[in-house]
Amino acid sequence: MKFSELFVKTFHEAPKSEEARGAKFLVQAGYIHKELAGIYDYLPFGLRVLEKIKTIIREELNKIGSQEILLSTLQNPELWGKTNRWDIEKMDIWFKTELAAGGELGLAPTHEEPLTELMKSYIKSYKDLPVAAYQIQTKFRNELRAKSGIMRGREFLMKDMYSFSSSEAEHEEFYHKSEEAYAKIYERLGIGDCTYRTFASGGVFAKYSHEFQTVVEVGEDTIWHNADWSVVLNEEVMQDEILAEFDVKREELESTRAAEVGNIFTLKDKFSRPLGLEFTDRDGKKQPVFMGCYGIGVSRVMGVIAEKFADEKGLVWPEAIAPFKYYLVGIGENGMEKAAELYRGHSEEVLFDDRDLRPGEKFADAELIGIPYRVVVSDKTLKNGEAEITERKSGETRLVKLSDLTF
Ligand code: ATP
Ligand code: MG
Repeated sequence: MKFSELFVKTFHEAPKSEEARGAKFLVQAGYIHKELAGIYDYLPFGLRVLEKIKTIIREELNKIGSQEILLSTLQNPELWGKTNRWDIEKMDIWFKTELAAGGELGLAPTHEEPLTELMKSYIKSYKDLPVAAYQIQTKFRNELRAKSGIMRGREFLMKDMYSFSSSEAEHEEFYHKSEEAYAKIYERLGIGDCTYRTFASGGVFAKYSHEFQTVVEVGEDTIWHNADWSVVLNEEVMQDEILAEFDVKREELESTRAAEVGNIFTLKDKFSRPLGLEFTDRDGKKQPVFMGCYGIGVSRVMGVIAEKFADEKGLVWPEAIAPFKYYLVGIGENGMEKAAELYRGHSEEVLFDDRDLRPGEKFADAELIGIPYRVVVSDKTLKNGEAEITERKSGETRLVKLSDLTF
C-alpha cells in the first residue's frame, strides 16, 4: 500500500477522549475511529489487524474440526424467554429494538439460544454427535462502563464456538482440544508467554470455567498465581476450600492485573434442556445434548496487544498481526527511486511511505503505527548496494544487501 493513496492520516496529538495509552495510539495512528463510548469504526490499518487475528483463529479452529457459520444478529425474544434470559433483570446488557409491525427484537449479546434451537433441525441421534460450530460476529452489549477503548465495547467482535456432544466424556475430549487450540492461537498472536489458563467460577454445571487471561496493567481482572504459574486463579474463586483443592496457600500467591481474552465453559444441558435439543442414544433413549461454549474477544485481543506492547513512541505489533510487516522509506532522489522500484516488485506486506514529507516525520509515523521493520534506502546506503533495516521492538538497526531483501 502507498501511504499517499490512503485517506487515513496520523494525528500530531493523542486524542483526549481515550484514557488508555494503547487506545490513544490506535486513534492517533489511524487504526480506529471513535463514534461513541464503546463504539468504534475500524479503518484500513485496524481492519488489517482484525483480519489477521481472525485468520489465525479460523485456522486453529478448523484444525480441530469446528465448522464456521454466521448467525443473525436480530434475536427472537421467545427463544430467550425459554431460558429465562430475555428479562432485563436476568440479563442486564441487552440492547432491544422494535419491529415496525409491532413486537420486540434483541441485538445478540451472545448466541447460545439461537444455535441450540437451530441444531434441533440437524441433531437427532448419537450418530450426529459430536459437532462444533463457530462464528466471528459482532455482538452488542449495553455495558455500563466502556472506558477501555476497544477492550470493552458496546459493539464488538467476538469469536464464539459451541460444542454438542452425546456424553460428558465426549464433551471433555473436545473441551481439551479447544484448550490446546486456544494456547496455539495466543501463541501465534504473540501473547503466548503472557497469557495463562486461569480457573474461574463456572456457573451451575461445572465447578470451574477456564479463562485465558493476558497479563497487562490496564486489565480489568485480578488473577493470583504461584511462583511457576502452574496454578492461576481468578480473584473471584479465591476461597479457602478452593485454595486447599489446588494445594496452595494464599501467602504463596501473588496477584497481577490481567485482561480476559477468552474463556471456555461446560454448559451441560443448561440450554439444551429448556430449548429441547435432544438426541436418541444407543439404547434408543432420548437425552439432552451435552454442550460447551468457547469465546475469544477478537477486538479485545487487538486492544490488549496494543496496550501491552506500546512504548512511549507508539504501537509495537507482533509480526503475525501487524497491518504490514515492512515500512519502506526512500531518502534523497536515488533513495526514493529505488524505494519505488522495490515497492513495485512487492508486496501485500509493505507500506511504502511515498508522501512528500521530511524523513524525520516518516520515521515518527513508522514508530507511531508500529510496523515491525522499517526499511530505509538512501543515497548513502545505496553506495554499498544496501538498505537499512530497523526493528521496531528493539530499535536495532542492521544493513542488508538489496539483493538479500525479501519482502
Ligand atoms: P467480561 O468478564 O470481560 O465482561 P464475559 O465473561 O462477559 O467478559 P463472554 O460473554 O464469555 O465474556 O465473552 C467471550 C469473550 O468476549 C470474553 O472472554 C472477552 O474476551 C470478550 N468480551 C466480552 N465482553 C466484551 C466487550 N464488552 N468488549 C469486547 N470484548 C468482550
Ligand atoms: Mg468474565
